[in-house]
Amino acid sequence: MTTAVHTQHADAYSRPAARFQDGGLDIRASAMGQCRRALWYTATEQPITNPTEPDSLTLLEAGNALEPVVVRAMQRDGWTVSAADRDQPQSVTVEVSDRLTVTGHPDATGILPPEGGAVAAVEQFLFGADEPHEPGGELVIEIKTRGPEAFKHWQTLGAERSHPESVAQAACYSLGLFGEVRDIVIATLDTGARRWDHEVIPAARAERAWDAACLRLSALTEHHEACGPDPEALPERDFTAADWQCRRCPYLNLCQPGEAAAPEEETDAEPSDPVSDDAAQAALRDYEQAQAKLKSLETDKRTALKTLQHWLQTKGESKARLEGSAKTRTVGMVTSRRYAVDHKRLNALLHPEQRAEIVTEQVSEYVRVS
Ligand code: SF4
Repeated sequence: MTTAVHTQHADAYSRPAARFQDGGLDIRASAMGQCRRALWYTATEQPITNPTEPDSLTLLEAGNALEPVVVRAMQRDGWTVSAADRDQPQSVTVEVSDRLTVTGHPDATGILPPEGGAVAAVEQFLFGADEPHEPGGELVIEIKTRGPEAFKHWQTLGAERSHPESVAQAACYSLGLFGEVRDIVIATLDTGARRWDHEVIPAARAERAWDAACLRLSALTEHHEACGPDPEALPERDFTAADWQCRRCPYLNLCQPGEAAAPEEETDAEPSDPVSDDAAQAALRDYEQAQAKLKSLETDKRTALKTLQHWLQTKGESKARLEGSAKTRTVGMVTSRRYAVDHKRLNALLHPEQRAEIVTEQVSEYVRVS
């Protein structure tokens, strides 16, 4: 596998997700996880039928603009970070095969703060996880910004489960910059609470993510080899119209004509008994009234419990009987315990498959009024 590093102009960031180059395919590192048919549309320069909404573009630009904020936060926490020069970013290209290259622009490289490295090394010595992180070694740092929900999702599940494409992307940069896949760092900013956190992924696991991404892309190079750069010969779809990847795909109308509006109609499908706006407004007012009553009842309950707590303390007892309005009740102090899982340590110690058996995901739906 050969690698190359170049300095480029800022417009390099807007290079296409896929293009034909030197008889093969060149894929943008940040697009490695994209739908392969969408990559094919891009490489064959098909017209975009579903341009990105202005709001999504604003969100994307805001995320990019916040990257230096993450770098400064890391530096304040003792990290040594060299961030990319956004006017002249460094481009790395990794040659996966003679028909496939992956090109991208690393966000930053850096060195773990001394305690971070030492803690990680001790953990790995104690628990026998993958190769120890080398305190002092320079690593690739992939910077992400996420909304509160996505941030929590990442912290709980780890990047290999929540955003595997970002792990393969960072592994690509590590190969390009250092000639080997080292441990990689994913640093993420929660755009809601404006706090950041990081995850170190051991080299062996980062390399596995890279291999999996390359294997997936090799099907596209085989398609290229069999069909040439033919815009009519389309690879299979990786997703269906209901998937978020298709909902956000710039080629949705080209790939699945007529599907653009359908799922929304399904999502917004009216319940069997239609609810008018007036009925919804009446329900909202009922909800507000109930909330106000609950709030006042909660305050009364808290005040009463506080008085009972002080009464018990005055008596020097942890439990006592007291006559209530309908029966005699026991008033007692209860000690409750909560158990927390340190997801960061768990993610560092276990492979994603082991974690998937331990940390499972349940999704529920509810209505929130804010
Ligand atoms: S619409 Fe869906 S399946 Fe079609 S190219 Fe886009 S992401 Fe792929």
